[in-house]
Amino acid sequence: MGIEEYKDLLSSIGVDVEKHAKMMSAGLESYKKQFLSQPNRPKGMEYFDWFMSEIQGERIAEINRLRSQKKPAVGTFCIFVPEEIIVGAGGACYGLCGGSPATIPDAESELPRNICPLIKSAHGFKLQRTCAYTQSSDFIYGETTCEAKKKTWEILNKHHPVHVMNIPHMKREKDLKMWSEEIREFKEHIEEVIGKKLTLEEMKNGTKIINEKRDALQRLDALRGMNPDVIPISGKDGLFITQMGFLDDPVRYTQKVNQLCDELDERVKNKISVFEKDTPRLMVLGTPFAPPNWKLHTAVESTGGAIINEESCIGHRYYKDNVDLENVEDEETFIERLMQRYSKVDCACFTPNTPRIDKILKMYKDRQVDGVIYYTLSFCHTYNVEAHLVTQALEKEGIPCLVIESDYSAEDIGQIKTRVEAFLESLAFKKKAKKFKGIR
Ligand code: SF4
Ligand code: SF4
Repeated sequence: MGIEEYKDLLSSIGVDVEKHAKMMSAGLESYKKQFLSQPNRPKGMEYFDWFMSEIQGERIAEINRLRSQKKPAVGTFCIFVPEEIIVGAGGACYGLCGGSPATIPDAESELPRNICPLIKSAHGFKLQRTCAYTQSSDFIYGETTCEAKKKTWEILNKHHPVHVMNIPHMKREKDLKMWSEEIREFKEHIEEVIGKKLTLEEMKNGTKIINEKRDALQRLDALRGMNPDVIPISGKDGLFITQMGFLDDPVRYTQKVNQLCDELDERVKNKISVFEKDTPRLMVLGTPFAPPNWKLHTAVESTGGAIINEESCIGHRYYKDNVDLENVEDEETFIERLMQRYSKVDCACFTPNTPRIDKILKMYKDRQVDGVIYYTLSFCHTYNVEAHLVTQALEKEGIPCLVIESDYSAEDIGQIKTRVEAFLESLAFKKKAKKFKGIR
């Protein structure tokens, strides 16, 4: 089915159906052009191609069926949302649209021009009523991670209910205590939405579902990057699968990712790679890639490089840690375990954030990467400033790094490609020189 069949539903939740249809058709065209043309894609990508075609159709219908059963639907722009509680309540937690330049001019009627494009794009989607996920949400989850988001919630709240969680910027004992309280308040807010108390078993069940989803993504991550001789799937497809993990039903999604991983396992065994031998292997660090932001991956992989991992919130930062459910017999311990898991997220909003640097160095070594790209969205001050500390640490270890700051416009694509091309040439030269000397 196409979104045409869901016109009545979309209209009933307040979507501007005409504008939405135009946007979706442009999005699908762009997807077809950038994804379906890739050679030798795994068969398991068929499911994700189907999901893309139903992204604002059947999936929206599913979410609204849940809502009609009094289950919560929560939209978010951040991985600090305790999705385990929402899924435990039988509801849906999903990432909201925020990766398109098309909504930014509308957002700029309320927000300043010089803030991060993710926030502006997301705000514009609400003003235009062109994101069916936003329109399906009981509330939007907001957090206090960066200045721009923090203030935007107050403005967004005039158009859609927003629940703001106070995320500390340090991880001292008193900060962590406050964090646990914030998680408890969030749980109470969900209980208000559904009109009943949540049991410990329900919340543990939601946690198991999300732990399994993160396990599947870890498996995909290992298959993408831990075998230096073979890259069984493109970085673009890897990124897209991760992006869809923020929209799809978590149980079905986990099953599909694991099915795809079985196929990739075979590819690794049979040394079937989607890139030519000696294609430079790259890791991307930095800010999240909200769909349809595929700009960097397309530029890199059409220029001769392969991306094997994203050290990003739409990536490794999201799935690297699970919630430990061992010996959780009461709600207090459960909340404590959630806090422990979430406080391992190494977002640049924290000071200090040295575990992130140690992790990046380890990831680089484990994956035998040739170089890294530090990617930040324009005006994202936290990741932009932290780039100095990260690149210093990389330089000390002799790790080649290219820093790219960009927004969602198409204007700098040519420039990005030229810079990536020069970077790849220097990596290829280094690789040859190392081979010549007999070292990796
Ligand atoms: S970068 Fe920080 S603020 Fe942004 S989604 Fe990730 S955790 Fe949230
Ligand atoms: S990318 Fe940076 S500026 Fe943009 S919302 Fe995330 S933390 Fe804030």
